[in-house]
Amino acid sequence: MACNNFKDNMAMCNCTYKHCPRKGTCCECLAYHRRNAELPACYFTAEQERTYNRSLSYYFEFNG
Ligand code: SF4
Repeated sequence: MACNNFKDNMAMCNCTYKHCPRKGTCCECLAYHRRNAELPACYFTAEQERTYNRSLSYYFEFNG
């Protein structure tokens, strides 16, 4: 089922991993990263996001 918010989500998504099938479908994005003890790209600054390190430990290095 297509996400009704896909267009708005894409407009605010800062993820640079272009080929991800979850991009723009935030519920899938969050669930995927949560399963892996990670956070979505939007929790990180542009510089941090580019590392593709989405781990909770990386997040808490800057927000602990
Ligand atoms: S944050 Fe992760 S799941 Fe979400 S669009 Fe980027 S690579 Fe995909």
